[in-house]
Amino acid sequence: MTAPARTRSSADLIRAEAPVLAHNYHPLPVVVARAEGTWVEDVEGRRYLDMLAGYSALNFGHRHPVLIEAAHRQLDQLTLTSRAFHNDRLAQFAESLAELTGLDMVLPMNTGAEAVESAIKVARKWAYEVKGVAPDQATIVVAADNFHGRTTTIVSFSTDDTARTGFGPFTPGFRIVPYNDLAALEAAVDETTAAVLIEPIQGEAGVVIPDDGYLAGVRELTRRTGCLFIADEIQSGLGRTGRTLAVEHESVVPDMLLLGKALGGGIVPVSAVVARRDVLAVLRPGEHGSTFGGNPLAAAVGSAVVGLLETGEFQRGAAELGVVLRDGLAALVGKGVVGFRARGLWAGVDIDPAIGTGREISERLMREGILVKDTHGSTIRLAPPLTITGEELASALGTLEKVLTQEA
Ligand SMILES: *Cc1c(COP(=O)(O)O)cnc(C)c1O
Repeated sequence: MTAPARTRSSADLIRAEAPVLAHNYHPLPVVVARAEGTWVEDVEGRRYLDMLAGYSALNFGHRHPVLIEAAHRQLDQLTLTSRAFHNDRLAQFAESLAELTGLDMVLPMNTGAEAVESAIKVARKWAYEVKGVAPDQATIVVAADNFHGRTTTIVSFSTDDTARTGFGPFTPGFRIVPYNDLAALEAAVDETTAAVLIEPIQGEAGVVIPDDGYLAGVRELTRRTGCLFIADEIQSGLGRTGRTLAVEHESVVPDMLLLGKALGGGIVPVSAVVARRDVLAVLRPGEHGSTFGGNPLAAAVGSAVVGLLETGEFQRGAAELGVVLRDGLAALVGKGVVGFRARGLWAGVDIDPAIGTGREISERLMREGILVKDTHGSTIRLAPPLTITGEELASALGTLEKVLTQEA
């Protein structure tokens, strides 16, 4: 058998998408065909340094050999049972993830949005059964400028017009307060409050880092007022900020932790709600589920991801190179960068709008062999694989300087 020769160019493939693929994304004009580690290669064989890493789904780089090996081994044994039966990989995955996070119990799902939806259901049920909130009166307090996914319920509490317009009617039961404002949070919490749901660092908003003390304050407030603290670490977790979890920077343990993206090792979608036993215990058979959640392939890859994080090597690398990233960006302030926020190997960089929009800067970087993505307006987000080397990071920062200081 011979595979047909690859005859379609990048431009041809991009043109071919338009009539047949929903236009819910506006990708950079690069068509990736292969990847390894920090590098991707397009159809024509051009190489790019991946400074986005699938929005942190590729924390361990593309095709990390340990993860690929775990996936291959599992593909040869068993891939799916549904939860109608047990599978021999799930216990170890749940044990290792609980151990890594310091929590008790795992609810395995697939995508990030499903983990968020699951946590909302669990929090509501907890409010009725444990806290004693009157039927259908439970509220969940969230932060403005949040990003928790794209389902109907989740966009119900988004503050982004593009995410919401045209998609109502919305799910009630959410209160929105400004991020990083403990007084506003306190004012919104009452006897109906099931949970406070926040991102410890707001990724899509532009890597917005709250003041020191905010997360500890949310922990203290939720404990004092008797509601749950749900930390959405789907993007901030699993090594990105230099710790296993971003909440560790303030020594905080939430009641429910949401993981996704990197949990699937860049191979399969794997997400999870990880929680205290007395919280997740509100779910009983039939009340929640997922055909693919906890499937043996996902569990094998997820276990291998936890195994990589148990070494501490990736967290350490992100912390060490995070200093290089921060110093490199600090040196660009006034040279096209008007401000930035960074923690670990994660940064939101505000570009001087006179130089170009985030999109234009992303396209110029692409032409120089660096892949990033803009968020809002003139902000670009940097989130390279945690496997990036110091030389690669220095080279990316050099290219950014070049793009910002050259004539467009
Ligand atoms: C990406 C993301 C989600 C949604 O994950 P999907 O897998 O795209 O559904 C939820 N919360 C945060 C913080 C995210 O970054």
